Amino acid sequence: MLPYIANAFPPQCSTYNVTLSVEHILLHCVRYREERRPLAVYCRGRGLPLKQTTLLGDEHPDVVDILMIYLTEANLIRKL
Ligand SMILES: [Zn+2]
Repeated sequence: MLPYIANAFPPQCSTYNVTLSVEHILLHCVRYREERRPLAVYCRGRGLPLKQTTLLGDEHPDVVDILMIYLTEANLIRKL
């Protein structure tokens, strides 16, 4: 992406008008709702709360695997 285009789109979420945070992207941003669905389904199926500590903690490496797929699908892997 060209620099001037990047400047025209500051790293803010247009939906909630908030500065992008890791938690927002992982859990709340409607822009990535479709890509997030398998992750949500996976967590629900295992009775895990869909929250940042589940996704980024080291207790659930299988969840982290799904998370990485989500980030790749959402093309976010290079933004974090
Ligand atoms: Zn958002």
